[in-house]
Amino acid sequence: MNATNDPTNSVDNPLLTDSTLPYGAPPLNRIRNEHFKPALLAGMETHRREIDAIASNPAAATFENTVVAMERAGKMLSRIRSVFGSLTASDTNAELEALQTELSPKFAAHSDAIYLNPALFARIRTLYERRSQLGLDAESLRLLERYRTAFVRAGANLSESDKGALRSINERSSMLSNEFRQTVQKGVTAAAVVIDDVSLLDGLSPEQIATAAAAAKSRKLEGKWVIALTNTTGQPPLSQLKNRALRERIYKTSLMRGVGGDFDTTRIVAEMVKLRSERARLLGYPTHAAYVLEDETALTADAVNKMLAQLAPPAVANARREAAAIQALIDAQSNTGAPAFQLQAWDWDFYAEQVRKQNYAYDEAQVRPYFEMNRVLIDGVLFAAQELFGVSFKERHDIPTYQDDMRVFEAFNADGSPLGLVYFDWYARENKRGGAWMSSYAEQSRLLGKRPVVMNNLNIPKPPPGQPTLLTFDEVNTAFHEFGHALHGLFSNVMYPRFSGTSVPRDFVEFPSQYNEMWAVDPRVLANYAKHYSTGAPMPKELMDKVLAARKFNQGFGTTEYLGAAIVDQAWHQLAAGSTPNAQDVERFEAEALKRSGVDFAPVPPRYRTPYFSHAFSGGYAAGYYAYIWSDVLARDTEHWLNTHGGLRRENGDILRSKILSKGFSVDAMTMFRDFYGQDPDIGPLLEARGLAVGR
Ligand SMILES: [Zn+2]
Repeated sequence: MNATNDPTNSVDNPLLTDSTLPYGAPPLNRIRNEHFKPALLAGMETHRREIDAIASNPAAATFENTVVAMERAGKMLSRIRSVFGSLTASDTNAELEALQTELSPKFAAHSDAIYLNPALFARIRTLYERRSQLGLDAESLRLLERYRTAFVRAGANLSESDKGALRSINERSSMLSNEFRQTVQKGVTAAAVVIDDVSLLDGLSPEQIATAAAAAKSRKLEGKWVIALTNTTGQPPLSQLKNRALRERIYKTSLMRGVGGDFDTTRIVAEMVKLRSERARLLGYPTHAAYVLEDETALTADAVNKMLAQLAPPAVANARREAAAIQALIDAQSNTGAPAFQLQAWDWDFYAEQVRKQNYAYDEAQVRPYFEMNRVLIDGVLFAAQELFGVSFKERHDIPTYQDDMRVFEAFNADGSPLGLVYFDWYARENKRGGAWMSSYAEQSRLLGKRPVVMNNLNIPKPPPGQPTLLTFDEVNTAFHEFGHALHGLFSNVMYPRFSGTSVPRDFVEFPSQYNEMWAVDPRVLANYAKHYSTGAPMPKELMDKVLAARKFNQGFGTTEYLGAAIVDQAWHQLAAGSTPNAQDVERFEAEALKRSGVDFAPVPPRYRTPYFSHAFSGGYAAGYYAYIWSDVLARDTEHWLNTHGGLRRENGDILRSKILSKGFSVDAMTMFRDFYGQDPDIGPLLEARGLAVGR
């Protein structure tokens, strides 16, 4: 019995020992804030000792005693970091945030201590030079090559003084990135719009109004209503709110986040782009984008610019056509007594929804009762995977979670052998970051004998107790998307942890998730999950057909707002050292970049503006936001292939699994794609899918 609980003692701190739960699942019910710091420090210390032993090994370098030894090192640290990363993203608190701030420069220094270790690099270089004589199998040879690339890209070839400069840039950058993330999260929470008069909420459903009242109550604003914002420029309630002044207020609040005030981020952005450009120069690259893209499937900034330039004109032309249709509707309504005005960005969603109803004769409120959350998961997302891959899922109630409303499933192969665990945390919370994502508690590797433990996070507003959770079609689509990532993690079958599952380039990693979205609208899958939450009646075919037809609707807007953000991201990171703007010029720089590329269409601002562009300044997507559309080209090619090969069939699933999903990054990404598709990627199916091929 312990009178006092000592977090540095492995008896008291569950993070310090390997989990005894199935699949090494983390004991989330036993982990508390105070466990992280001692565990993470101990994990770094252990990893450092393991690396030192490899670097100072008196025996000559061999693949086994150097490269494989590095793959085996750091197991404890990565196990603890995966839990820390998961909780700080999905269920954070002030204490964990403070720890993140304290540790982020230490993590950066830890990584530098490995990749800038001259003795270690000397061993890798020796092996690399003799690589053809080592008798390595293909995956092992590739591992050696990737290690050598990682060392060189991290600065292993630099002089000692340049290494010192690089270390300080890395530590400062990681602090800034952390500060950006936390400031944006606080800013979006603080920007929630408080409403005194419920009549202003006209257009929202009674459930949404109840949610707004509950949100006010939880902020001690009893008797008022709170519209919480999400971290994108557009805000979902704008499609429903009838009060134009309130729409404008919400919209402008969203758009001006991060510029000045308590949660200003322009200062952070200016310093980050400056540091990134200087790091690129140190490493011998003209810009940060050149440095990043060399290691992606795109390879060069020119290739990315060319693709964005190809897509921008048809996207903007389509957005202008959509705007004209919306303006015509506003004008027609003004003829029957409504006020006349010029379409503004805050009107778009509201009138687009009416154009949608006019042209496709349905609205979200009609559709949502058929998208009940649990049915979407079991009879939709998991069902599609069962049909395509022959896998099965069994819910586990004995695996600990950090929230009671999470669900955990064990996945099995067709022959009944175990595959891994998958967690679902689908509800939005104020202490959860925005958006949707997949992450891992454990990554598959045969070397370490580990099976995958993966997780899907969404941000679905939780209805008041007793009410069903009814999804929008977008949320359904996102659920299928994230599960595509989960399957990429679950099906991984590689030797080395470095190549596991989703450890592929950013402009490839979205591809398996993007084609998985196609099953959300597959007739057989839809018929299986789209049933009325109270009557169980199938979604009427007529309504289903309208939902399907409406998929090309508003794609000019969607593609343009995305391209705006992708172009701004490239503009920031294609700056040479010495030419980056100051904080007060951040907004002007963004406006000029949009104008230059022809996507400065006022009713369609970028999906993220610079001051809250978390992908670019805290999410690891710097110079990489283009990746979503780059990999969507691969995804739409794959959808085309599946559609011409009989769709949802086990045979197709087996091909995808063996040629793509099981390979992780053990094979070069484009080689993998060509082996599956039989040719180079083609942009045609993407333009067709988005309705952008029209009028080109
Ligand atoms: Zn994704």
